[in-house]
Amino acid sequence: MTDADCIFCKLAAGEIPSTKVRETERVLAFRDLEPKAPTHVLVIPKDHYADAAGLSAADPALAGEVLAVAAEVAESEGVVEGGWRLIANTGLGAGQTVFHAHFHVLGGKPLGPMLAV
Ligand code: AMP
Ligand code: ZN
Repeated sequence: MTDADCIFCKLAAGEIPSTKVRETERVLAFRDLEPKAPTHVLVIPKDHYADAAGLSAADPALAGEVLAVAAEVAESEGVVEGGWRLIANTGLGAGQTVFHAHFHVLGGKPLGPMLAV
């Protein structure tokens, strides 16, 4: 399941480059192009779902696999002790810019309050 116009589908297919951090048969983790923290990794299902809610509704097992890979990335990046944050911006109002489900794994520095208010 792919969307021809989707940048993360192209990235998952290897049609555009990425810095891979971890990969399973159905999940890919790669470094964000514009990191907001020393560790900023995106974890995506290789199949196309518009957002995290669509992913979990359609394939809860895959959603669980994505979360498990996010936790493995936090381990391998060495951010577990210092604390890390998992973000899934969902919808324009939340700042979602890429409409292929993805989770941000952020860490490596004190992350401050959950939201800038
Ligand atoms: P969001 O705003 O939650 O939809 O997050 C999309 C993220 O994708 C942003 O943090 C971008 O920096 C990142 N991004 C966009 N294109 C690429 C790319 N080709 N490789 C890595 N990260 C990307
Ligand atoms: Zn896609």
